[in-house]
Amino acid sequence: MWILQGEPRKLAVNMREDWLLLAQDMVRRQIQARGLTDSRVLAALATVPRHRFVPLLSLEDAYSDRALPTACGQTISQPYIVAAMTCLLHLPDPLDSPTPCRVLEVGTGSGYQAAILAEMGARVLTIERIADLAAQARATLQDLGYGDRVSIHVGDGSLGYPAGAPFDRILVTAGAPNPPPALLAQLAVGGRMVIPVGSLNDQRLAVLVRHADHWDQHECTPCRFVPLVGAQGWPA
Ligand code: SAM
Repeated sequence: MWILQGEPRKLAVNMREDWLLLAQDMVRRQIQARGLTDSRVLAALATVPRHRFVPLLSLEDAYSDRALPTACGQTISQPYIVAAMTCLLHLPDPLDSPTPCRVLEVGTGSGYQAAILAEMGARVLTIERIADLAAQARATLQDLGYGDRVSIHVGDGSLGYPAGAPFDRILVTAGAPNPPPALLAQLAVGGRMVIPVGSLNDQRLAVLVRHADHWDQHECTPCRFVPLVGAQGWPA
């Protein structure tokens, strides 16, 4: 049980026991109930302790069905959107691949999405433009044992990370007017990119698949992300 004490409200709970039940319930009610069935994605969301990625003041809402504010005016995405984007990436099963899938994430934020990808066996290179967020995410991921599978860089992720390219998957967790050309160029042939594309207030998840000489693109789930601010995103 959550026990609320004092003002601001604190959660004085035995997290080690309670969060697993909350995470399982989140997966059942918010993700499976909406039709997502990829068992590896569901297992990752039930395994990663989401409460470790939210600010203390939002702790009681850590497993609720919504995005939450984080430091510096940014957000941690709604669990369902994290699951939907991860499903759309089609990460290979690490048991079937000789080398880990290399994923570029743009928009580290809290580090929660990077932890989900790492939990599924990916090697993640993630870029965050706000240094304080990157530092906090690095500390959390290290503490949870994901430090060797996730490397965090500070910079403009709309330009990607050319030194690490090509990437098998690219996941952008901030809304862009269009898929940045730099990211398209850094996607491996046969690779997939998932990115929210649209106006500042209204986007859809776009899935792009790279072929030798062109990219297929289709759009699906409506969503609303904070803007991708950068040279190939929105102006600051
Ligand atoms: N993936 C995050 C998580 O799991 O918590 C949520 C990301 S939050 C919705 C979007 C993040 O993208 C913010 O932290 C923001 O600072 C970052 N961002 C926006 N533009 C960026 C850019 N050009 N390069 C890198 N990060 C950017």
